[in-house]
Amino acid sequence: MSQILVFLEHKSGQIKKSSLELLTAAKNSGAPFDAIALGAGAKALAEVAGGFGAQSLFVSEADVLKTYNPEAYTQAVALVVKDKKPAVLLATASLTCKDLFPRVGAKTGNGVATDCTTLKLTGTDAQVRRPLFAGKASVEVEFKNSSTKIILMRPNALEAQQPAAGKSATVSEITVPPMDLKTIVKNVVQGASAKVDLTEAKVIVSGGRGLKGPENFKLLEELATVLGGSVGASRAVVDAGWVPHDMQVGQTGKTVSPSLYIACGISGAIQHLAGMSSSKVIVAINKDKDAPIFQKATYGIVGDALEILPLLTAEFKKLLQ
Ligand code: FAD
Repeated sequence: MSQILVFLEHKSGQIKKSSLELLTAAKNSGAPFDAIALGAGAKALAEVAGGFGAQSLFVSEADVLKTYNPEAYTQAVALVVKDKKPAVLLATASLTCKDLFPRVGAKTGNGVATDCTTLKLTGTDAQVRRPLFAGKASVEVEFKNSSTKIILMRPNALEAQQPAAGKSATVSEITVPPMDLKTIVKNVVQGASAKVDLTEAKVIVSGGRGLKGPENFKLLEELATVLGGSVGASRAVVDAGWVPHDMQVGQTGKTVSPSLYIACGISGAIQHLAGMSSSKVIVAINKDKDAPIFQKATYGIVGDALEILPLLTAEFKKLLQ
């Protein structure tokens, strides 16, 4: 019987990169593992899960699970957890999973460690750390009285490999009972942006009040395009109406962990740091050499972001194109 269960997130059968990270960790643990995927197109993930060595893929494409519904998803995942009793359940610390897994934990009587940035998984022995106080400290989480340790990893915190070709996990259909749901999702309206979601992006170029006005965000777009990244923002500029809230990074915005975070004209308030301090490399561009962001930055540029951004874009273009 498998000891690790990996919850896979996907868009109509297209797996998310953060789920590849989890499958890689499960494979490298050396323990037998299964995967679970729900919603339209879930069965298509059997090949990718099998490519990492997953034995079974538990799926349901039932109508009630077509799009994310907290009640329905909780019931479906809890059914599998109660039946298979995996020692470890891995999921991504995405908005969906941060909503779903506390409910699954409550329903199955298991502990949940959310937003983890470090995972040491040897067999089913799992050690995890998660940041606290906007990254000023981190804690090691110990599970007690949990037959299943539910662990939610930040996207980009783990390495992602690609699946081997030619193997497929055995598809095992979850028998979802009739549900008397209190809420239903009637339709989903797709956002206008075709860009990679900030939480999944490997490179983020973020702008703050130092950019002076919304018209200068095009400088960030240009650099992000050359680097294959996405554009983020501080709350000050979201509140000012320069950019939409889905671009906000921080305590009341998104938590991101890209390989490279370029903060332009952002002071580095603790609430902003809360959302980005686990980025692997942080570059700060700020006019004020004493701005707090420089204390977190791997590299700092003291100067006018409006002058420096076009120079950086031109140099990266030469290097990368
Ligand atoms: P400022 O603090 O005004 O900083 C602008 C910076 O730009 C300064 O450092 C300045 O030196 C520099 N600058 C000026 N001109 C230039 C130039 N030409 N070139 C380069 N640098 C220049 N904030 C978030 O970001 N995310 C959150 O999720 C969030 N949640 C919050 C939750 C709560 C409960 C509270 C109370 C606050 C929250 N905030 C959040 C707000 C946070 O406290 C700061 O006010 C905000 O992050 C400041 O944004 P900023 O750095 O863009 O602006």
